[in-house]
Amino acid sequence: MTVLVTGGAGYIGSHMVWELLDHGEDVVVLDRLSTGFDWAVAEAAELVVGDIADQELVEDIIKRHSVDSIIHFAGSIIVPESVADPLGYYLNNTVKSRALIESAVRTGVKNFIFSSTAAVYGTPEESPVNEQAPLRPESPYGTSKLMTEIMLRDTAAAHDFRYTALRYFNVSGADPQMRTGQSTKGATHLIKVACETATGKRPSMDVFGTDYETRDGTCERDYIHVSDLVNAHYLALKRLRDGGDSMVANCGYGRGSTVLEVIEAVKRVSGVDFPVVMSGRRPGDAVAIVSRPDLCKAELGWVPRCNDLELIISHALEWEKQLALRNRV
Ligand code: UDP
Repeated sequence: MTVLVTGGAGYIGSHMVWELLDHGEDVVVLDRLSTGFDWAVAEAAELVVGDIADQELVEDIIKRHSVDSIIHFAGSIIVPESVADPLGYYLNNTVKSRALIESAVRTGVKNFIFSSTAAVYGTPEESPVNEQAPLRPESPYGTSKLMTEIMLRDTAAAHDFRYTALRYFNVSGADPQMRTGQSTKGATHLIKVACETATGKRPSMDVFGTDYETRDGTCERDYIHVSDLVNAHYLALKRLRDGGDSMVANCGYGRGSTVLEVIEAVKRVSGVDFPVVMSGRRPGDAVAIVSRPDLCKAELGWVPRCNDLELIISHALEWEKQLALRNRV
């Protein structure tokens, strides 16, 4: 039994690969290397460079490796980019996922874990938000992921196929053993950007919007350590293999930090007082998104181990330094 990890050369996917290997699983990675890096998985697992919508290729991998489960990360993840290029996002995230799901059904792969997002909620009426909250994405990114959740739901109703969709809050940090980390060039995610600024890779950084209705006027997010996130996937895999029903669950810790709080924490952990520019709002940003993690804990037996903002930041910072040392900046 092999696990196919799509997008396994990317940030979260490469952490997933190590999590699976640490548990003795056989893994094959499919990634077209548009944002991922072959070196992120080279030492770990077989990498097939290709597209998830190439059904001949995907079905051949599934048959050759006796794949029983797919963990699907491949996709585009930048909210403002999706506002500028909605059709690109619907192609990458929705249309290509449809092809992958069809390949799974055709070849009899029964277990499917999908990388969804808290962006499906838009700005929730209540925060922390649970899985029953209305789904009102505010960006094409969120909509493109919600459409895939709907395809999975309907596919599971029609076929011998079960899925778990995990709605990620703000994933950050790096493997504590420094085997992989967030390596994307030109990254836009807050903790990555702040760590790049702290390590001198950027001269300064922006705070996008200081007039939101939050305790300090900046947006609030629930930052979750990537190692805890991939562990939730591993538990979801075990649960599906044991015959668990399809489910959708939030993946966050249940506490929010504002942009300014994150920046202060990065300054504290790094010891560097880097320049920060107060700027206007960024398109597509929701004010506050914090998870209710109860379902993930109850159904998967998930026990977060790195629920500490400074710990997340210390791993992210260490990875920034590793990238420079390894000449992979
Ligand atoms: N943000 C910021 N400066 C940056 C990057 C992000 O102020 O350089 C803010 C962004 O506007 C949002 C929050 O940080 O309010 C989290 O953004 P990120 O891109 O990390 O994740 P998202 O929640 O959009 O998936």
